[in-house]
Amino acid sequence: MRRMRNVKVLATLGPASSSEEMIRALFEAGADAFRLNMSHGSHDGVREMYDRIRKVEADLDRPICVLADLQGPKLRVGEVAPDSELIAGASFRLNLKHGVGDAHAAELPHKEIFEALEVGATLLLDDGKLRLEVVEAGPDYAETRVIVGGLLSSNKGVNVPDAVLPVPALTPKDRRDLDFALSLAVDWIALSFVQRPDDVAEVKKIVNGRAFVMAKIEKPKALDRLDEIIDIADGLMVARGDLGVELPVEHVPGIQKLITRAGRRAGKPVVVATQMLESMIDAPVPTRAEVSDVATAVFDGADAVMLSGESAVGDFPIEAVAMMDRVAQSVEHDEQFRAAIEAGRIEPETTTADAITLAARQVAETLKAAAIVCYTASGSTGLRASRERPAVPILVLTPVTQTARRLAIAWGVHCVQTEDASSFLDMVIRASRVAEGEGFATTGDRLVITAGVPFGSPGRTNILRIATVGTERGRPRD
Ligand code: ATP
Ligand code: MG
Ligand code: MG
Repeated sequence: MRRMRNVKVLATLGPASSSEEMIRALFEAGADAFRLNMSHGSHDGVREMYDRIRKVEADLDRPICVLADLQGPKLRVGEVAPDSELIAGASFRLNLKHGVGDAHAAELPHKEIFEALEVGATLLLDDGKLRLEVVEAGPDYAETRVIVGGLLSSNKGVNVPDAVLPVPALTPKDRRDLDFALSLAVDWIALSFVQRPDDVAEVKKIVNGRAFVMAKIEKPKALDRLDEIIDIADGLMVARGDLGVELPVEHVPGIQKLITRAGRRAGKPVVVATQMLESMIDAPVPTRAEVSDVATAVFDGADAVMLSGESAVGDFPIEAVAMMDRVAQSVEHDEQFRAAIEAGRIEPETTTADAITLAARQVAETLKAAAIVCYTASGSTGLRASRERPAVPILVLTPVTQTARRLAIAWGVHCVQTEDASSFLDMVIRASRVAEGEGFATTGDRLVITAGVPFGSPGRTNILRIATVGTERGRPRD
């Protein structure tokens, strides 16, 4: 099954989408990657979802990328009864310990917040949708007035923009969740609330190559050292939910462009996340503004667009994925799309891999080739090819299952697991067979192939071969 777009769709799984049938339907509707949010649900629940994704992957014979998102030092309210609506002007109490909350009070199980709160401080709930003002505070409670009301549900995030809270990069829960996610063999680990390059380095050290690590950019401090963070991370997420609470919300669009550009420059996948089709949590169609938001990320050349609550808890997960797919296809067929991508073009670095991938793009575009075929083991050449943002699809052929899965989130890449080529002839015939089989080419179409000789030795992409499908004689050695 081939996608008719370059940008990828990352869908968060949750109660609305955890069954095998839903996961399959979401993949078929266009989800290339799934996010397992470690903030919600038990390890057993996450393992079940993970196993179901792998089952769908095996059934459909397409690599699927799985990203485990670590909660980080996020502050959250406790359990809240359904239909609890906070009314503007009313009082609302937060207690360190509290049973099931309601419209008048809820649990806030974070001692450090109460210690830092002062009268007059603002508390923001649910990515800033609800706003409270502290009128009285003690060591284990805060009495507040509701400034902006709305529905409050269990486990919603809390931000305290006025207070400086002591936050570690990895909480004890994150360490447990990280070990657990690695035991499942997820492809990416996303780290929340990154502030320093060291935060990412610490996780990279624990992960030790078992997964790629994505830095979620949602703290103003992370922006001060963005380049160093990008150097260490394997990918980035523009985590607009908390970003738009930590900073004035009107700064978010500019920051999104900055991060997208920086990720593209580095050749590291960038995911744009949060509220992309928010209204589709309870409506089958999005707002025009949401469509425009998804389109902007696609025009900017982001690697992936993400769904959060829309696919995790919404009433229309499949419609939301299908909508992203349609918006992405429409944008990518728009005449202005190539110009927008070209405007963001970046120079190659002075490496053999970049020289070859740049040449491959130019040759492929000149010849109107059907695809660039890229043999890669670690995936690094595949990511460099993606960085070129070519006008033709990139077929990544790799013998490594995990490479195929990890790269499924990268722009324009279609991954296929296959053995390494054993000779030049084998390389060409194998590439042709895969390109035909996956629906990218037919007899007479041209392919631009990059690989490294001697075959099977990683990290040395050094050849570029132009091939015409169906004209090479012989059989590949299996
Ligand atoms: P993050 O800050 O990491 O984005 P989040 O709490 O905003 O965390 P999302 O995954 O973005 O979580 O999902 C949006 C909303 O969907 C959450 O606020 C939560 O109410 C709900 N949700 C998501 N996943 C689950 C789940 N597995 N179980 C229950 N609710 C969930
Ligand atoms: Mg969120
Ligand atoms: Mg977040």
